[in-house]
Amino acid sequence: MSAEFGGTKVVCFDLGNTLIEFGPRQIAMQYERLTTKLVDMFGSCDATKLKEIRDRQIVAPYHDHYRENDVEECCRELIEGIFPVTATDEQVGELAEERYRVFVDIIELADEILPLLGALSERYRLALLSNFPCGRSIRDGIGKLGMTAHFDAIVVSGEVGWVKPDPRPYRELLEQLKSEPAECIYVGDNWLADVQGSKSIGMKSILTTEHVPYERFEPKPGDHDPDQRISHISELRDLLLV
Ligand SMILES: [Mg+2]
Repeated sequence: MSAEFGGTKVVCFDLGNTLIEFGPRQIAMQYERLTTKLVDMFGSCDATKLKEIRDRQIVAPYHDHYRENDVEECCRELIEGIFPVTATDEQVGELAEERYRVFVDIIELADEILPLLGALSERYRLALLSNFPCGRSIRDGIGKLGMTAHFDAIVVSGEVGWVKPDPRPYRELLEQLKSEPAECIYVGDNWLADVQGSKSIGMKSILTTEHVPYERFEPKPGDHDPDQRISHISELRDLLLV
């Protein structure tokens, strides 16, 4: 193991663009499916308008004190932003259900991930902390991919109400793990949410650049640097298992 990670007991993971790809390709699929659903519901859908609203919603928590989006509010805003209607609760629920289904349908796991988690779990406890407004999507999604049993704790921002880098989701994770931050490494792809969030709370940080994220946050003066950078998730084997 790399010397700087001595004393590590827990390896915490981000999900999107860390353990699974969730970049421009998946976002495009999501937008396409939501457009199709709205065509079903209303007879037409301005896909450009949908993209404009969804793009804004994706980054909204980072401009609102890290308050996580409410899925139903987002669906209502989407319907009312595209169509001259007041959305009914039923329509909002129908669109929210489609959002959930799309996420679970489109996510895939690369072949190396389950063996990697299996190997790491022989030496460390593993945990998952994901920024996503719908906890059910993440929990059922990782269930579909066969990852659930590897994690001692799973925290989703939508169930906490706040997104990383806010300390609250990290604190919830540490509480569930009954662990100290200094015993934890956090592996993620997002400079702001993952590197700044985990370093601020006292964890070690590994930044992965394997996947292209949809939303990007550039380093600012005074930011924390990650303890390590990797360009492929399999590099964790050399860093943490050798
Ligand atoms: Mg991510």
